[in-house]
Amino acid sequence: MGTSMDRVFNFSAGPAAIPLPVLERARDELVDWHGCGMSVMELSHRGKEFMSIAERAEADLRGLLDIPAGYRVLFLQGGASAQFGAIPFNLAGPQDKADYVVTGSWSKKALAEGRRFLRANVAADSAENRHTEIPDPAAWQLSPDAAYLHYTPNETIGGVEFHFVPAAPAPLVADMSSTLLSRPIDVSRFGLIYAGAQKNIGPAGLAIVIVREELLGRAREGTPVMMDYREQAQNDSMLNTPPTWAWYIAGLVFEWLLEQGGLAEMERRNRRKAETLYQAIDDSGFYANPVAKHCRSWMNVPFTLADPGLDAKFLEQAKGVGLLSLKGHRSVGGMRASIYNAMPQEGVDALIAFMAEFERRHG
Ligand SMILES: *Cc1c(COP(=O)(O)O)cnc(C)c1O
Repeated sequence: MGTSMDRVFNFSAGPAAIPLPVLERARDELVDWHGCGMSVMELSHRGKEFMSIAERAEADLRGLLDIPAGYRVLFLQGGASAQFGAIPFNLAGPQDKADYVVTGSWSKKALAEGRRFLRANVAADSAENRHTEIPDPAAWQLSPDAAYLHYTPNETIGGVEFHFVPAAPAPLVADMSSTLLSRPIDVSRFGLIYAGAQKNIGPAGLAIVIVREELLGRAREGTPVMMDYREQAQNDSMLNTPPTWAWYIAGLVFEWLLEQGGLAEMERRNRRKAETLYQAIDDSGFYANPVAKHCRSWMNVPFTLADPGLDAKFLEQAKGVGLLSLKGHRSVGGMRASIYNAMPQEGVDALIAFMAEFERRHG
């Protein structure tokens, strides 16, 4: 059996690292959850044991994010990508318009799916700066009759993040897959927030949707029932068998976050991790990050080496000292360090020390 001594620093963008205390607790509870003689995986989703797990998870998430009373929280399957399609089905008719802000790969995917189901207007697109800077909101071409404005607060691949919430007359719809729970947010500014769990929440197989109640009940004719947010809300996300194990682990992550001091503390830690890593990159003549400073992501830090011919060597040697999954996304190359809540400052410091040593030897 491995022990915690075998743990590496995992910089994967997703599925990503999960806090060790959460894994240890899951291990301790694996075969016999709270004396019921069964694993959570074996519990009926409608039984009182799992219901207590589900309710606690939602209550803790509400507490962490300070979710106002007029919002429903859904625990769904299909990942964030299924929501790309579910959102137009729930919020608009086929002839309606919705605005999309394009800042990188994920917002492009959301737009491509949206286009299949309604009249999607590109309100802004940062293609001309190769998605290294968020377009000035003053120049966005918003439609007066948009059913919603969709944007991606953190572009996981490009490492571009909004450090502000845009103002728009239409309900704001935000794909927070790689930034939810990284800091406090004002949920009341949003019509709908969604996130796949495997970045900063828990295991793959779960997506969380936080939706303003008054936006429910607008689903168009022909919406599949599993994609209908009102149906899911009315059935407490249990129209069918929900992803019980992923829901349970997410609940343990929420408890861990509360024990750490909540999202204000996460913000403090995440800001410091990001600042130290970007500083090290900027101070070196060997590493570079192309993103405009005011829109750099706190969660995903892409960087390149002065000589891409050294990429393979960098990855191999990093692995040798327990720094894993640093390979950049195949669409951009280079490196990417994802430093979600589960990555401690020590992991970032170890990466910075390794980078300096690698530069000294090869730069
Ligand atoms: C990972 C990711 C997705 C896709 O998530 P799935 O759960 O795999 O569908 C969508 N948007 C963003 C911003 C992501 O980081």
